[in-house]
Amino acid sequence: MQVFTVENIPLIKEGDDIASIICENTTIEDNDIVVIASTIVAKAEGRMFRLEDIIPGEKALTIASKHDLDARFVQAVLDRSKEVLVDYPIFLVETHNGHVCIKAGIDESNVDTGHLADLPSDPDESTARIGSAIEQITGKNISAILTDTNGRAFKIGQTGIAIGVYNIHPVKNWKGQKDLFGNILEITEEAIADEIAGAANLLMGEGDGGYPVVIIRGLELRSEESSIQEMYRSDREDIIKKGLRCLSK
Ligand code: GDP
Ligand code: MN
Ligand code: MN
Ligand code: MN
Repeated sequence: MQVFTVENIPLIKEGDDIASIICENTTIEDNDIVVIASTIVAKAEGRMFRLEDIIPGEKALTIASKHDLDARFVQAVLDRSKEVLVDYPIFLVETHNGHVCIKAGIDESNVDTGHLADLPSDPDESTARIGSAIEQITGKNISAILTDTNGRAFKIGQTGIAIGVYNIHPVKNWKGQKDLFGNILEITEEAIADEIAGAANLLMGEGDGGYPVVIIRGLELRSEESSIQEMYRSDREDIIKKGLRCLSK
């Protein structure tokens, strides 16, 4: 497996064609996995906004008062959430798309001062649009993964995770395969989309590197009809969410 950055990506602005920019700056091969930081997709899709344009409601004011947070920012998070799982001491929500993250993934790093970047509202759709455009331009069959930087429960430190996929199943099922000693694996599922996002994020970094696109070559994981929703536990199975709801009552 090879992992490398795409060089010379410019500062992305609204309306930019990310697929074309990627193809102008690198060579794509069959089965490549193109990993793209959500920040640049947000910029290209014009999903930037300013706090000045937001009027906070009562709930936002209450949550903001518990933190050192701007109530307008809290309102922006609420607008993008289907559920607040914890409002203090962390502000953890589930977005309309089913992604559980701090502050609905709204991000102010690597965006114009005074602006905030939203996650794409339908990350699978954004990933598929860019991925299929790359296939059109190059004539190659690829996969794509859209990433963001996320914290994890229980451990210090953030890592790159997948928030949208195109032509790759995000979870690999090992059920029925054998271990070294011939034992049949019963429940092991591997979050390969997050593992790939983590590998790519290692080259992206979080600062001024300017590497929002990483190519992974040499893995044969392409598979059509995939969705990030395959990774999200159903409400019924999600005991962590159930626990958090109990705590917040
Ligand atoms: P996020 O994880 O999606 O929030 O993205 P980050 O803000 O962590 O940025 C990931 C990488 O993309 C870093 O190397 C940034 O320097 C780079 N980056 C972010 N925006 C741009 C851009 O518009 N152009 C270029 N060339 N790099 C960018
Ligand atoms: Mn960022
Ligand atoms: Mn981010
Ligand atoms: Mn990041």
